[in-house]
Amino acid sequence: MRVKVDQEKCHGHNRCVALAPDVFDVDDDGLAVVMLDSIPAEQEKKVHRAELACPERAITIEE
Ligand code: SF4
Repeated sequence: MRVKVDQEKCHGHNRCVALAPDVFDVDDDGLAVVMLDSIPAEQEKKVHRAELACPERAITIEE
């Protein structure tokens, strides 16, 4: 699984960071970034939760 954040849509709520702190971080502008190229299996559920929780629909998952 791979995941992307569209920073044009991201408003920096940090919900993704709270739900999957090993995958998402925020940059100096307060916008979310993805720290991993490939998501380990044990993180997949958390990433799905983050995608659903993002109010801006800024997170895209590629299976
Ligand atoms: S939850 Fe969505 S809008 Fe909020 S920081 Fe994460 S990607 Fe950005």
